[in-house]
Amino acid sequence: MGRFLRYVKIDTQSAEGQTTIPSTKKQLDLANLLAKELKDFGVQDVRISEFGIVYGMVPGNLADNSKVPTIGFIAHMDTSRSGLIFAPGLVRFMPAWIAASGGLVLLQALLEPFASVSRRVRGLAGAVRGGLVASLGLLAEREIRGADVPGANDNASGCGVVVALASKLAAEPLGSTRVVVLITGCEEAGTLGARAFRDSRDTGGWMFLNFDNVGGPGSVRFLRREGVIDKWDADPGLVATADRIATARPDLRMKPEDHPAGLTYDSSPILAAGGRALTISNQDGFIPDLHRASDVFANVDRDGVRRALEAGAELLAAIDGGAAD
Ligand SMILES: [Zn+2]
Repeated sequence: MGRFLRYVKIDTQSAEGQTTIPSTKKQLDLANLLAKELKDFGVQDVRISEFGIVYGMVPGNLADNSKVPTIGFIAHMDTSRSGLIFAPGLVRFMPAWIAASGGLVLLQALLEPFASVSRRVRGLAGAVRGGLVASLGLLAEREIRGADVPGANDNASGCGVVVALASKLAAEPLGSTRVVVLITGCEEAGTLGARAFRDSRDTGGWMFLNFDNVGGPGSVRFLRREGVIDKWDADPGLVATADRIATARPDLRMKPEDHPAGLTYDSSPILAAGGRALTISNQDGFIPDLHRASDVFANVDRDGVRRALEAGAELLAAIDGGAAD
């Protein structure tokens, strides 16, 4: 645990020092650091892919490793930008804002052809246009006034849990399951890292566990559904497994969540393609410090991270025992 907390700290500081460096360079620095840590812990086959994904593998204990089931551990190393839309009190309206903006675009397209016909339609079209401009203004505000956030909770906490679990496994491999570590970039830019990985190889039959924002003091949530406008159900076998662990280990404060805070997760493109995935995220209606300058190491809840880490270890052991088959 001490080693792991030190690790989160290193990770955070790297992210904090990134304001003047282009995002891609920053991500590569962090990728190099994470890759080194994984190698030091004894994870095999560690490399950084052309998509900037840190990849590593912990084989199972069976002779023919190519035939064993695979669990993919995902976390994202990129951070985001702050802005008015992430202000406390406003952030919970974000899904509504996105839905409303989508609605306005549609309405605009429907009304525009009739604007010349009636004054009332013209007035309505003007109001819709005004709404769209305000909506774009919020986006622009974030680009102009927002700052790159440190990302201790989002998502150094997830990287930390994934690296800690991988190091534990490298010391004591699972019986009949291989674990692949995937630390992605560009999650905040539309889960591009996860998409690239999904499209680059056959992951049929793999199970993915994604750790995102696990540094909060709240419940360790397993997300039964994800997405804002498009929704995807998490894998039923993984959800049932998490449900059983939640009952057996009340001390971990694990709970299901059907309306997660945040937008899409790295598990979303996998679920969208029919794959098996589940995201773990500490949240009770909101994600602490999400995309804000206060997302620093000092605000990471150690007990929350510990519970997420133990929940991950329990999930692994259960999946290795065939619980999610
Ligand atoms: Zn995140």
